[in-house]
Amino acid sequence: MTTHALIVLVLFVFGGIGPCFLIWRYEKRRYNNGYCACGERWIHFDCDSQGGHMWKCERCGSYLDTSWIRPRNIYYGKVKH
Ligand SMILES: [Zn+2]
Repeated sequence: MTTHALIVLVLFVFGGIGPCFLIWRYEKRRYNNGYCACGERWIHFDCDSQGGHMWKCERCGSYLDTSWIRPRNIYYGKVKH
């Protein structure tokens, strides 16, 4: 009985966390510590209403939006004069 309840609890917990974990892993891989797959830095250009971050790459034109990544130093692109 106790084991059964434990299995249900484990399934419930991982069933809930699983998708978030996978998204986080996907975002972390794509965010790549602030660098696009082409080697250029992601430029932070917007935030969404849920507190997610939106990034773009000026070299290859890729876009990325993350909601689980909490970046330590955000790159806003070169300051225009
Ligand atoms: Zn790029």
